[in-house]
Amino acid sequence: AVKQLKNSLALSSKKKKIAVMTSGGDSPGMNAAVRAVVRAGIHYGCDVYAVYEGYEGLLRGGKYLRQMHWEDVRGWLSEGGTLIGTARCKEFRERWGRKQGAYNLISEGIDALIVCGGDGSLTGADLFRSEWPSLVEELVQDGKFTIEQVEPYRNLTIVGLIGSIDNDMAGSDSTIGAFSALARICELVDYIDETAKSHSRAFVIEVMGRHCGWLALLAGIATGADYIFIPERAAPKGKWQEELKEVCQRHRAKGRRNNTVIVAEGALDDELNHIGAEDVKNVLLELGLDAKVTILGHVQRGGTAVAHDRWLATLQGVDAVNAVLEMTPETPSPLIGILENKIIRKPLMESVKLTKSVATDIENKNFDKAIMLRDTEFVELYENFVATTIKDDGSEMLPEAQRLNIGIVHVGAPSAALNPATRAATLYCLSRGHRPFAILNGFSGLIQTGQMQELAWADVESWHSLGGSVIGTNRSLADEDMGTVAYYFQKKKLDGLIILGGFEGFKSLKQLRDSREQYPIFNIPMVLIPATISNNVPGTEYSLGVDTCLNALVKYTDEIKQSASASRRRVFVVEVQGGHSGYIASFTGLITGAVSVYTPEDKINLATIKEDLELLCENFRHDRGENHNGKLLIRNEQASSLYSTELLANIIAESSKGKFGVRTAIPGHVQQGGIPSSKDRVIASRYAVKCVNFLEDWNERNKGVDADTKVLRFKYDIHGEKRPTVQHEDDSAAVICVNGSKLSFKPIAELWENETNVKLRKGEDIHWKEFTRIGDILSGRLRLRAEV
Ligand code: ATP
Repeated sequence: AVKQLKNSLALSSKKKKIAVMTSGGDSPGMNAAVRAVVRAGIHYGCDVYAVYEGYEGLLRGGKYLRQMHWEDVRGWLSEGGTLIGTARCKEFRERWGRKQGAYNLISEGIDALIVCGGDGSLTGADLFRSEWPSLVEELVQDGKFTIEQVEPYRNLTIVGLIGSIDNDMAGSDSTIGAFSALARICELVDYIDETAKSHSRAFVIEVMGRHCGWLALLAGIATGADYIFIPERAAPKGKWQEELKEVCQRHRAKGRRNNTVIVAEGALDDELNHIGAEDVKNVLLELGLDAKVTILGHVQRGGTAVAHDRWLATLQGVDAVNAVLEMTPETPSPLIGILENKIIRKPLMESVKLTKSVATDIENKNFDKAIMLRDTEFVELYENFVATTIKDDGSEMLPEAQRLNIGIVHVGAPSAALNPATRAATLYCLSRGHRPFAILNGFSGLIQTGQMQELAWADVESWHSLGGSVIGTNRSLADEDMGTVAYYFQKKKLDGLIILGGFEGFKSLKQLRDSREQYPIFNIPMVLIPATISNNVPGTEYSLGVDTCLNALVKYTDEIKQSASASRRRVFVVEVQGGHSGYIASFTGLITGAVSVYTPEDKINLATIKEDLELLCENFRHDRGENHNGKLLIRNEQASSLYSTELLANIIAESSKGKFGVRTAIPGHVQQGGIPSSKDRVIASRYAVKCVNFLEDWNERNKGVDADTKVLRFKYDIHGEKRPTVQHEDDSAAVICVNGSKLSFKPIAELWENETNVKLRKGEDIHWKEFTRIGDILSGRLRLRAEV
């Protein structure tokens, strides 16, 4: 840590003074970003200031520019909105206003500014940077400073963080606050659905998004809506009414008792006429439906940040400080974004320009371009939504010869999102003309009863918001009786298999693939969608259910921390699940601001416990009594066979000499269950569609399969050329994996060989190591070590 500190400081010639501000509309997670900037800045030896009230505060200076100390941001991870305030400031759009801002920054000796806001705020920031040298020149001419005084401040460093609930920034998969707003929307739509079903009503729900349909699109997918209206895909004027009616009627005919339509605030038809929730309602009334409108409004901005926004803002805040320290006057201002699972930097102005061009494209009725300028995932999700809801009328069905029988099985402990993934796979299968078969109660269910249930639209329609596993799951593996499994696969003539599960699912896939020679029926494409809260499936960084689990832990720890605010000095040792994988523990530590995390990867010993004690004492020493709650130590259930949760709590209590009380807290199965988070629902749907496409592609390529034995004789390569193939086509038994910014299918055979620790039931790669280090920076552990 000391070496890294020196390296970072060596990059800058003088002690950096960094200011951080929030601007434009507030969004949940902004406080987590400010906390991360403040602590990472201090960790790297910088002075960090907060600019209160956005650009307004920059212009006013004085008390609006406050130096922040380590303790000032304690507890900020759990707070919604932005505690340093935000504002819209007309004066900053004027050059004289920006000159005033420059004066105030130089007066405090600040020449680096991290701005967390939307495209307007970031445009202002970039303009500020480009004008800076001339503003400084003018300040000298005006006699405000001497040349010598401004010499160290010739350049302004700007780094952008995207704080926006709209998720409208080009080049980044998500923005700070967007998933919190989505979670709020989904929670409320779930509530509305209950009453709508009771009365057999139709609800039109207006969500935020003046120029961006991300919230409406993802809410549509996550809540199983019948129809959505978004600005990037304008509805055909005069025609959308008929399509809307037709879709709602069709879904009613299939068995739905209610209808849900999500309308983005800025929804348009292709002649640029605004489509409001009332317009939509009136069309539904024409159908004779009991239709109502709910405008969700500002409730979407409120509340504490969800787990995703807490880690996103934390990692991005730390990276923003790194960027400040690495930048030279020649480096274009960076914007910190995310692609899949990877924090990335992009040139700020390029991203802002692209973002603004979406609005121009919409104004010019260039809707195809507008939607393409959103990230690739946006287009993919939109197409998935259309395929599974609007076009589920048979029009998208494949020719008879390409239709498949697809098995779906759940294996292992339940995790949230098993049902949403099964639902999405089923709906997509049905719209393509395939027959989805649910294998009931896992492989042992199949072996004992032979039950496979063909799933229909009405069976799965409401599974988007159900935790657990409706079709049943079981820890048993396929090899319990491979012959019987093969018999039932043959009986139903399965052409492909989707497994949803964790390490047991992974193992079953390997067993099925290894049994291909003995049972040729297994020469069908098979895919595993990792679904386990332990996130221990080798080869991937994400498993379905993880986000729901992290949110359950965020809620749980927020509440126990709060409970300690009355009694003051209290420490909780929280035991979390995860098997031999410390992922959940590490991530929980990062997003709850834990003092320490115990994982199987980093063994507990007396030295680490001593360090924790020092850190706790340090923490309580600086506790000023306001804004503080209980302190957390997060222990993975398998972190040590000796230092149990109870023993740790006892050691710490004994050593605290009465300075603070210690309690244990074990959330247990709360972590596995619950309603799937909106993020898990959307990812479930995305993976499910991708996996059905994977099975289709392999069946297409393997047209040379012997109809009876299913042995692969030849395949078609990507150019459509017929190629001889080996009997075991390893690539056709794969796991859908995310690694950094890449999503891919990895063959199980290779994963097993190269990336699996069979004994510990996890991957060899500890992909969250960096996050543990960041957690240690922000808890002050590395600082303490450096001091020692
Ligand atoms: P949201 O996405 O919530 O609307 P935003 O950052 O885009 O956030 P804006 O109101 O557009 O919100 O901008 C916030 C502030 O940024 C403005 O009040 C203004 O002070 C500054 N700002 C915006 N655009 C510019 C610009 N072109 N030049 C200078 N300053 C600007």
